[in-house]
Amino acid sequence: MTIRTGNSYYLPSPMLRPADAAVEARTKFILVTGGVCSSLGKGVTTSSVGALLRSEGFRVSSIKIDPYVNVDAGLMSPFEHGEVYVLQDGGEVDLDLGNYERWLSVHLRRDHNITTGKVYNTLIQRERQGKYLGKTVQVVPHFTNEVVEHILRVSQIPVDGSGLKPQVCMIELGGTVGDLESAPFVEALRTLRFMIPPEDFCLIHCTYLPVMGGGQKTKPSQHSCRTLLSSGLMADFLVCRSEHVLAPDCRKKLSQQCGIQEKDIIGAHNVPSMYQVPVEFHRQGMVDRVLHKLRLDRSAGMPALDASVTIPDVNTFAKFANILQNPQNKVVRIGFVGKYVSGGSDAYFSVLQTFEHCCIALEVRLDIVYVDSEMLEGKDAPEATALLLKCDGIFVAGGFGVRGIDGKVAAAKLARENDIPYFGVCLGMQVALIELARNLLGHADANSAEFNPTTTNPVVRIMDCDKTQMGANMHLGLREVHLIEKDSIMTKIYGGADHVLERHRHRYEFNMEYFQRLKDVGVRFSGVSDASLGPLNRVEAIEIPKNRFFLAVQYHPEFITTPVDPSPPFLAFVAAAARKEFAWPTTINSRGAPAS
Ligand code: GLN
Repeated sequence: MTIRTGNSYYLPSPMLRPADAAVEARTKFILVTGGVCSSLGKGVTTSSVGALLRSEGFRVSSIKIDPYVNVDAGLMSPFEHGEVYVLQDGGEVDLDLGNYERWLSVHLRRDHNITTGKVYNTLIQRERQGKYLGKTVQVVPHFTNEVVEHILRVSQIPVDGSGLKPQVCMIELGGTVGDLESAPFVEALRTLRFMIPPEDFCLIHCTYLPVMGGGQKTKPSQHSCRTLLSSGLMADFLVCRSEHVLAPDCRKKLSQQCGIQEKDIIGAHNVPSMYQVPVEFHRQGMVDRVLHKLRLDRSAGMPALDASVTIPDVNTFAKFANILQNPQNKVVRIGFVGKYVSGGSDAYFSVLQTFEHCCIALEVRLDIVYVDSEMLEGKDAPEATALLLKCDGIFVAGGFGVRGIDGKVAAAKLARENDIPYFGVCLGMQVALIELARNLLGHADANSAEFNPTTTNPVVRIMDCDKTQMGANMHLGLREVHLIEKDSIMTKIYGGADHVLERHRHRYEFNMEYFQRLKDVGVRFSGVSDASLGPLNRVEAIEIPKNRFFLAVQYHPEFITTPVDPSPPFLAFVAAAARKEFAWPTTINSRGAPAS
């Protein structure tokens, strides 16, 4: 049988010898679905299983399916949906892709995030071009085929820097099985399941065991497995979230009722740190079982080709969890100023992950004091100011829109005048520049054109961008940041690189007309977009050398960070707040490049 996929690779072939297998083997698929309720930790499950396979030397990629109609996450409110994660190709995607990148040490593309909107966009464009030759375009087979072909194509993209195609592709299906909006994707995944040999596909179903009357209840999980079965998919593994350790009788009951072997029912009780999840999975034998199900031989795994990439193994994850829980670690208090800080949203997910990476590297504990930027403006200002004054460092997050902007400006002023270590990201740099222009240059009306388009002192101006549409029209993705000041914080933390590659997401930039004037009052411009451009340059980093630590960057360093290689600007900030010396690399690290 030959499978028609548009890709010639998918010819079922006899088992390959292990020596060839690393390069030649077919890509295996691990689908992760969810049942019973949302927020079960499908993302953490996907990342943990992927990370454990990575630590066995396999090349692992990951795709996220989001059944919503938005084409991408770019225009979704971070308050409602969580942060918009930015990939190196500028894709604005679901924050789960950030988890995959950090846990699997890979670089994904916008195509690794599939949404209903994205699929329909393709179908409608094709239909308008007359490519369906008069046929009725339908959910089945057109939508489903497009999804399958997309998955097969994207699963072949090398993501780990080796240039080789992945051996395993994780697929996380957002939402809950049985949802109306995910039904076409479930059908597509059923099609995929039957197009490929059985040993190339396995399904991990995440469910929830509520505790009632003192015992764990399995019924919702049983129903959810049946819903899955009625859509033509069968779970190979159950990952059971619960407050408590999975009870042996529940495991037995689930095994009988759902037709899954007991050893493939994995308990996922609440743990204090995410890094404990892979440790738990490993302890319950999940890696061996997944490898067995997929007929993957351990010898097919191989060490990372890129020596600069360190892949954590299960012991490393256990070590991370221990460091984060060590009560002996020094507590560092960080004032976190943003406008989405209340309500426990995931609006700053990557920033918080980066802070956690810094805690691991520096062996400190962070006490994050959230301060809503609006609180620094009105009647609450004295109280909010007093809170910030007690902090070891002040962080101002990125953001959009005028709400809370004067509060952020006030936070930058407070940090500068009281010599509290300051770190600003994106909008956090723009507000620092507004503050400096207002208070050091005496331009009381200095502002960003985003908040006051008619100000006579637009210290932050709009960049060249397509103003006719809203989606994907910003300065996005991986771009060069040139380090132009030899003794700056920036040069030190990036190991003396000539320039580094970091990710961006902004529509406004520093107005170069104020460059010299701010330089004259003590601002150091330590990073620019292209040193050869002169006045057309874009400022990427500013510092105030007079202060103990004052750094603000236009880019988003939180989008390139792992626990073994934390983002340098964040690390420098936390080290300064903790008053801890840190041995900075003397060689150029993974983000940097020497002068060409
Ligand atoms: N709103 C600002 C801009 O568009 C900052 C963006 C951000 O912080 N990501 O430039």
